Amino acid sequence: MSDVYAEPTTGADPTDHATLARYTTLRLGGPAGRLEIATSADEIVRQVREAEAREQAVLLLAGGSNVVIGDQGFPGTVVLIRSRGFRVVAEDADTVTVRVEAGEPWDDLVAATVERGWSGLECLSGIPGSAGATPIQNVGAYGQEVSETIVAVEAYDRTHRTVVRIPAADCGFAYRGSIFKYSDRWVVLSVDFRLTRSPLSGPVRYAELARALGVEVGDRVPLADARATVRRLRAGKGMVLDAQDPDTWSVGSFFTNPVLEREAYEQFRERAADLGEPPSWPCPGDTVKVSAAWLIDKAGFGKGYAGPEGVAISTKHTLALTNRTGTASTAALVALAREIRDGVKARFGVPLHPEPVLINCTI
Ligand SMILES: Cc1cc2nc3c(=O)[nH]c(=O)nc-3n(C[C@H](O)[C@H](O)[C@H](O)COP(=O)(O)OP(=O)(O)OC[C@H]3O[C@@H](n4cnc5c(N)ncnc54)[C@H](O)[C@@H]3O)c2cc1C
Repeated sequence: MSDVYAEPTTGADPTDHATLARYTTLRLGGPAGRLEIATSADEIVRQVREAEAREQAVLLLAGGSNVVIGDQGFPGTVVLIRSRGFRVVAEDADTVTVRVEAGEPWDDLVAATVERGWSGLECLSGIPGSAGATPIQNVGAYGQEVSETIVAVEAYDRTHRTVVRIPAADCGFAYRGSIFKYSDRWVVLSVDFRLTRSPLSGPVRYAELARALGVEVGDRVPLADARATVRRLRAGKGMVLDAQDPDTWSVGSFFTNPVLEREAYEQFRERAADLGEPPSWPCPGDTVKVSAAWLIDKAGFGKGYAGPEGVAISTKHTLALTNRTGTASTAALVALAREIRDGVKARFGVPLHPEPVLINCTI
């Protein structure tokens, strides 16, 4: 299995005040008030309801690859989502719709779809974490986003205490966002993806990927080639989890790429005039996306830049903040994040926003 979650050694012991650092890819986070493991959708709902009956706050944690948890931990109930599996729930001559349990490891799912000749997820190869967390921030990479293939999300609605099916159109998908991000209301139980029966990938949209594949942007390639090349490119940037490589002990990108109004973009370009043309991408509504990695690097925070207690920018990617020794505190990591954010703002006037969900900590 490509991406195995850490499992508690003590089993589902409600008195286990396990340190949450064990369950996060940053290896950071203090103790849980109570730790529960849920291995099916029904168990997830039951654990959430029981925590509510105890009047405890609930934290859903799956792969722990997109959270920064404070040193004081989480005093309520942490539900570890470990439901597994997927099945075909609809199909026709051209497509298959697969229903995936929330806890299914994402990259295992991608591998299975590529193997079966189902196109639509191949460029999202190598991303850690669970399938159920992918709608939360509309996971994306190399020109693909899950919002393109998700048709519906099954979720427990904590407000109305009922299980609902939310069509993709109502999920509020945006760049690294959805109605689910920073909301306590929804517990994702399963996700339906509609994939295309095809031995070939969708048109390759990302120039770096096209170059690595030796094709033009817009060409299609065998699914397995797309997957292998994406994984190779990601590994070169420390973006595939590797227990032996501290450059991967991160949450991936720590900051989102800022999307600027036209006027703010022109002001930024003036401030960056001495540095040549900054990389940018036009976005809807006359807005422009700029590269957070470029901003950070040009503001003086290069690869390997170190903060307190051994936290540092990855030596392979400017956007990843790492707990390289595995011994730092969350306070040290957020101090580095703050220094970078403030440095970029001072140099370019552009605000950076964190991509991961911050729990009991702030930058
Ligand atoms: C090396 C590395 C590379 C990465 N590359 C990318 C990338 O290319 N693109 C990208 O988009 N992301 C990337 N990420 C971020 C991360 O892998 C994804 O966001 C992933 O989907 C998070 O899944 P998870 O199961 O680890 O979520 P967790 O970290 O466990 O949880 C993240 C958030 O989702 C909530 N959550 C989790 N499961 C559920 C559920 N079932 N219902 C409701 N809420 C839930 C949690 O409460 C938390 O708020 C990367 C991370 C790492 C470490």
